[in-house]
Amino acid sequence: MGIEIAKLKACKACHYLTNENVCPNCKGTNLSSSYTGIVVILPGKEHEDPRKGSYIASRLNIDKPGKYALKVR
Ligand SMILES: [Zn+2]
Repeated sequence: MGIEIAKLKACKACHYLTNENVCPNCKGTNLSSSYTGIVVILPGKEHEDPRKGSYIASRLNIDKPGKYALKVR
């Protein structure tokens, strides 16, 4: 059992991937099913900022663990 990636939508504001109609990360409602690339940001030790330990998190400015789209159209 797993999450069906194909059904996920990407938030245009923060790139968070969700199957809700509202982004649980930033509460944005501007979601797109047209995106490329999926990045999974894992939780850091002791809730440290993922940007400290992950090049991709720092490049995308992601401060919470989760699944994100690389590019959202
Ligand atoms: Zn968002």
